[in-house]
Amino acid sequence: MKKIQAIRGMNDLLPADSPLWQYVESVVTDILARYAYQEIRFPIVESTELFKRSIGEVTDIVEKEMYTFDDRNGDSLTLRPEGTACCVRACEENGLLYNQTQRLWYMGPMFRHERPQKGRYRQFHQIGVETFGIQGPDIDAEVLVLSARILRELGVAEHVRLQINSLGSTEARAAYKHALVSYLSQVKDQLDEDSKRRLESNPLRILDSKDANTQTLLNAAPVLLDYLDDASREHFEGLKALLDAAGIRYEVNPRLVRGLDYYGKTAFEWVTDKLGSQSTVCAGGRYDGLVEQLGGKSTPAVGFGIGLERLVLLLQAAEVVPEGLDQQADIYLAAVGNVQSAAMKLAERIRDEIPFVRLLVNCGGGNFKSQLKRADKSGAEIALILGEDEAHAGKVSIKFLRDEIEQQTLAFDEAIAYLQSLE
Ligand code: ATP
Ligand code: MG
Repeated sequence: MKKIQAIRGMNDLLPADSPLWQYVESVVTDILARYAYQEIRFPIVESTELFKRSIGEVTDIVEKEMYTFDDRNGDSLTLRPEGTACCVRACEENGLLYNQTQRLWYMGPMFRHERPQKGRYRQFHQIGVETFGIQGPDIDAEVLVLSARILRELGVAEHVRLQINSLGSTEARAAYKHALVSYLSQVKDQLDEDSKRRLESNPLRILDSKDANTQTLLNAAPVLLDYLDDASREHFEGLKALLDAAGIRYEVNPRLVRGLDYYGKTAFEWVTDKLGSQSTVCAGGRYDGLVEQLGGKSTPAVGFGIGLERLVLLLQAAEVVPEGLDQQADIYLAAVGNVQSAAMKLAERIRDEIPFVRLLVNCGGGNFKSQLKRADKSGAEIALILGEDEAHAGKVSIKFLRDEIEQQTLAFDEAIAYLQSLE
């Protein structure tokens, strides 16, 4: 029979790789806890309308990347392509934004129908941070300091650069768009096809076109930073001063725009040279207009998303994956003969008294020799051997599988005390 395969661009995470993912996730979530950010969880599926209204109709995500389907009631639903819109929806719906500030994080899968390649998948994972209710650049600086710490503590600081820009107010962007369109209209014939189309629909997106010729044309284009309104300029200066004071190095990239329409003022990306064209590992910015756009009260907000696949790839490329992440057993308990219940009981005692030990109990019977083979294969350092004689005497044998240490047989209490003394 033909085997059913996974959907293209949607990966399994196998046991050999999950320890690295758990390590990365725990480093990040520990840091988030140290900054007193709180976790929020929301569904993987939302109304299609939520993403159309927030991300913007004329964006790559909404135009061509969403997994959208009608459910059995005929409602249009979408697998979430990102978390910010969902987070705002959840906070608003549960009254978390009224008269209070929030510093939140979430983690989980996102879905985009893109061409799968290294660092770009159809199901990928993000850890996202969203803050609400704080207007000044201090909170922009805080989330950047936090993101810098994540990259530093994972050991990849020297392989990433922070780029920042200000997208200004809606009015400033409108004025700039106007200037950009009149400049680019003169050279329209030379633009790549996507950019030609975007000249009408979403001209700002042309700025991060990957087309080399378009990029050359942009060298002489008007610059967004020259069109900033006073409030945005002041905000941007304030942010830069705070980053300087915090010792966070950055580059101002006046062409940095984000692929989602809701950003204004601060926009930033942590980029790396180690992952080819999938170079952005963390991206975010300020989106003061979004809550209102989704029907709530105007609420300042800033956040970012880290792409976990790219972060993991970066750790591997930078060769900073710590040793000893594997989660093989430390101890293998061989139960030879009619001793299974005694073995389970002993195993539970060991797990009670030595909680950090990884203990694998032989299941499925087998003679002494085959059980010891399994013990060796399990990667364990120590085999505990419980035979019928030992079980009757309340004793167990301790055999070192990788070291030249003499085997000994001890009473359960002594054996446990001895194992405790090893760690
Ligand atoms: P890109 O320009 O690479 O397509 P983006 O601007 O679409 O990125 P965001 O929507 O800002 O990305 O998402 C935040 C982060 O999530 C990205 O910086 C990246 O690390 C990760 N990411 C986005 N799309 C994918 C994907 N298809 N596969 C893996 N990671 C992704
Ligand atoms: Mg994208």
